[in-house]
Amino acid sequence: MVQAIVGANWGDEGKGKVTDLLAEKSDVVVRFQGGANAGHTIINDYGRFSLHLLPSGVFHSHVTNVIGPGVALNVDALLRELASLTEAGVPAPKLLVSDRCQVMMPFHVDFDKFEEERLGKQSFGSTKSGIAPFYSDKFAKTGIQVCQLYDHDILRQRLEISLVKKNVLLRELYGKPEVDLDSLMDELIQMAEKLKPMVADTTRFLMQADREGKTILLEGQLGTLRDPDHGIYPYTTSSSPLAAFGCIGAGLSPMSMKKIYAVTKAYSSAVGAGPFVSEIFGDAAKELRDRGGDRGEYGATTGRPRSVGWFDAVATRYGAMVQGATELVLTNLDVLSYLDEIPVCVAYKTAEGETITDFPTTPTLMHCTPVLDSLPGWKTDIRGIMKYEDLPENCRKYVDFIERSAGVPIHMVSNGPKRSDILYRF
Ligand code: GDP
Repeated sequence: MVQAIVGANWGDEGKGKVTDLLAEKSDVVVRFQGGANAGHTIINDYGRFSLHLLPSGVFHSHVTNVIGPGVALNVDALLRELASLTEAGVPAPKLLVSDRCQVMMPFHVDFDKFEEERLGKQSFGSTKSGIAPFYSDKFAKTGIQVCQLYDHDILRQRLEISLVKKNVLLRELYGKPEVDLDSLMDELIQMAEKLKPMVADTTRFLMQADREGKTILLEGQLGTLRDPDHGIYPYTTSSSPLAAFGCIGAGLSPMSMKKIYAVTKAYSSAVGAGPFVSEIFGDAAKELRDRGGDRGEYGATTGRPRSVGWFDAVATRYGAMVQGATELVLTNLDVLSYLDEIPVCVAYKTAEGETITDFPTTPTLMHCTPVLDSLPGWKTDIRGIMKYEDLPENCRKYVDFIERSAGVPIHMVSNGPKRSDILYRF
């Protein structure tokens, strides 16, 4: 049975924690898109971890972790992450990397930086991890698959063709040094040797695991609103974070997906550029940002302060719908315990003065302002509460409100960053 854990909003909803939790009762955890550009924070008995590329099942020795063909594979970042687990005393995880996965080149990271510099104020808020140049090459068919790393003639031929264009851009557009083919070949051949023990035909492995009735978790990165088609284009990422893409990016039949958990926070946060209607500013924002997550709302990869705002019913309903969510997982509920009244965004007002409750396209969204309502707070620390029924009444009413406005049932509510901070509501 395949289950997806995906973000209903802009990312950073707490998917890593939910995946780590559900991995306990699963056999396989798969990353199906994205790369080392975003982080999943996980706090468990081994400590606090920020995973970027590794699937969040790596803390469970019974789980096989898979990096599917849809991922932007930064091999150095992957090896660094594996080493950091070993240093923290985590047993070496079972990890398979798809032989069809494409490899992030050092020049992808450089191109990402140079392009953001060139765009200046017009930039899209890239994390400068090479993601957009990587996927551009993949779809222009000039990328390098893991399997091609082991055929040096093909590798050299493909790089030779690709570098002609790259070097023109480096020289003429960015005024930077060119990439040398021989040194790049050496670097990639060394990288390939280190990667070799993990390389496998993961599509065959996953199809077989599914046939045998194994539980497979597909772990999404970012969230609906960063989807290149259904998100806030162009302030999106370059691969689809949607559950529907999960089967493609992993290598599974679309008929195998039985559950889709869309994760959302009890408030909103976003990192990177783009319209964010329920955003708040000033002291109120600073307070929410500092109280949010486990150490404040600061990017797990970049350390950038995240923009924060109130819960956005318009964006979340849309986010859950596009994900095809079968349930919503609500995280960070404990963060709101300091508020007397909790503002929530229930609709948008357009530039023309129209009130809308359906999430619009980006040009309209850019000029929308929030229509706010508010719910009474509960003003008591809810961390450590073990049973859903023991939450204060106003807190349960807040969860009811989110469920109603998203139109998807909520069974799991997270009241703290640790694995054990989870309440089941039925
Ligand atoms: P992901 O990319 O979706 O996995 O999310 P991130 O790890 O980037 O951000 C989620 C943040 O919320 C992290 O700091 C988590 O430790 C934290 N977190 C997750 N669930 C909860 C919760 O219920 N309460 C609090 N206070 N923090 C949480």
